[in-house]
Amino acid sequence: MAANHQDNIAESRFDVVVVGGGMIGLSLACAAARVGLDVAVIERVEFEALNSSSFDGRASAIALGSQRMLAAIGVWKYMESSAQPIFDIRVSDRESLLHLHFDHNELDGVAFGYMVENIKIREALLEAASKYSNLFIIAPRTVVAIERSVGNAAVTLDNGRVVKAPLIVACDGRGSPLRAMVGIRAPGWTYPQNAIVCTIEHQFSHDGIAHEKFLSGGPFAVLPLLGKRASLVWTEKTNLAEELYALDDKNFDIEVTKRLGSFLGDAHTIGARYHYPLAMHHAEHYVDHRIALVGDSAHGVHPIAGQGLNMGLRDVAALTEVLINNVRLGLDHGTMEVLQHYERWRRIDNLSMVAVTDVLNRLFVTEGTMIKFSRKVGLAAVNRLPPLKRFFMRHARGTGGSLPRLMDGEVP
Ligand SMILES: Cc1cc2nc3c(=O)[nH]c(=O)nc-3n(C[C@H](O)[C@H](O)[C@H](O)COP(=O)(O)OP(=O)(O)OC[C@H]3O[C@@H](n4cnc5c(N)ncnc54)[C@H](O)[C@@H]3O)c2cc1C
Repeated sequence: MAANHQDNIAESRFDVVVVGGGMIGLSLACAAARVGLDVAVIERVEFEALNSSSFDGRASAIALGSQRMLAAIGVWKYMESSAQPIFDIRVSDRESLLHLHFDHNELDGVAFGYMVENIKIREALLEAASKYSNLFIIAPRTVVAIERSVGNAAVTLDNGRVVKAPLIVACDGRGSPLRAMVGIRAPGWTYPQNAIVCTIEHQFSHDGIAHEKFLSGGPFAVLPLLGKRASLVWTEKTNLAEELYALDDKNFDIEVTKRLGSFLGDAHTIGARYHYPLAMHHAEHYVDHRIALVGDSAHGVHPIAGQGLNMGLRDVAALTEVLINNVRLGLDHGTMEVLQHYERWRRIDNLSMVAVTDVLNRLFVTEGTMIKFSRKVGLAAVNRLPPLKRFFMRHARGTGGSLPRLMDGEVP
């Protein structure tokens, strides 16, 4: 590992301290380093453990805008060879023949995004991080306290060491200990559903098409990976999900095939399966005196639209732009005025995604004649109204709305 990945770095003062070295924390660190800020990342888990397939078997849909940002901050080149383009997206309801088809050729022929296994994303982030001489990783270390004064903030680690910066950024995930330490509430709820995640190998080519089939327990997503493989994200009611998860391989494959159908030919699971409880939360504030929340520490959504990571990457791009604009003017980048600019930029976009994912999940798991009819009308309406369809397609690509420059692939 590169020399800057150590626990005994002499420096203890940085421009930004990032707490949490998950996909969002490492992305923020690379983005901040790319624009010239000195940054430290503190992660409580050994990176070797975070990077083992027993830790995270998921793959993520990286929207086009996110891909452009990862390229701009020097990460994409290390994951490009593991990325499967998503050319088309097909959404269907139960066994209905009516389906919604998003075709990349209806926009400009550019893919919607890419599917990449999380383990490959982490490897690429760590590789890119090791190339920045102004980026320091302190791991495995847990932040146990935070102190904030007029011009400064400091976190204390579990070995007693104190690390200082004008700004601390919490990228410490859904349960965000840092968010709790500074008293920001994050209301939300749990869904009576679990997601089972596994990889399948199949007979026919997937042609880069992502399928999302809405079943009574929740969405059953078949997302293309490189080769004749796909990542399955199968949402089911909690009790049934637990029973399915516990099945032996043969019976689990039978249940998968029942839902998958035959369009990919013979299919079977490979490797381990994982399951995740599902919940939604949205922090009441993203910022407080000398602290900002980014990624899942600020918001967590149902994986129905594969947007959680993409939302966090947009936070990263916005915060980086706000910080560097102020640093270049010689201003203190940890003040509330600066941080509120970040919050204003990101809050509405995130809030609408929290609402859309929640409503979509409810709409598609609810039974009843009227609801079924509304779903049919909704799918048909989007399919037949090209402007509405293009609006959804641009959002799926993460290229709609007021975008920070990094999401266009430009370094601010
Ligand atoms: C089934 C499923 C499928 C998904 N699919 C997609 C998808 O296709 N596309 C998409 O965009 N999103 C997807 N998501 C969402 C996405 O995975 C998350 O939004 C994303 O991983 C959040 O990253 P994060 O870095 O914010 O948080 P985390 O991954 O939770 O990272 C937080 C890090 O902080 C560390 N930490 C915590 N406390 C401390 C402390 N006190 N000191 C030091 N370190 C600390 C933790 O060890 C951890 O490494 C999916 C989610 C699920 C559940």
